[in-house]
Amino acid sequence: MILDLRPLLRGELPALEVDYTLTPPPMEGIIFPEPARVTGKITDNTGYMSLTLSCDVPYIGECARCLAPVEGRLAFDFSRTVVDEKGYAMVSDTDDFDEDEYVVVKDGMLDIDAQLEEALLLEFPFRLLCRDDCPGLCPKCGKPRAEGECGCVTKEIDPRFEILKKLLEKDENV
Ligand SMILES: [Zn+2]
Ligand SMILES: [Zn+2]
Repeated sequence: MILDLRPLLRGELPALEVDYTLTPPPMEGIIFPEPARVTGKITDNTGYMSLTLSCDVPYIGECARCLAPVEGRLAFDFSRTVVDEKGYAMVSDTDDFDEDEYVVVKDGMLDIDAQLEEALLLEFPFRLLCRDDCPGLCPKCGKPRAEGECGCVTKEIDPRFEILKKLLEKDENV
């Protein structure tokens, strides 16, 4: 959403409340049943403006080990200093500049959706598990091990031996 900061810039308001919804970026294997809620405010601190937001979104994914559905909520904070293009040119010239500390207001308007989407992708769990000690699936029949014994006889095969075995078979064929 494009936020109109002109009343703040004109000094008519000390702060601007932010409350809107953002469509999360598409992520493979993840369903977002609802859009992300973005709440917080932009405050004028005489001389500079700061933005402090929270983003909250429910998701449904699948367990990396047993493929069971995993429901969760992602919530993270997003804080930045608001600068205009001139201010950005100045700060980006300094040695300790970090572009992730700023958002740029252009002609009084601020659009942070792309940066919020990027933050959401970075904050999202790298791997989802239905529970920390999920035992995964039986490699033979595919039944979740958490559901009990399937009766399959599974031998742990060391991949190095498999390669050796193949090499030996090759030798025999010569
Ligand atoms: Zn699992
Ligand atoms: Zn099995």
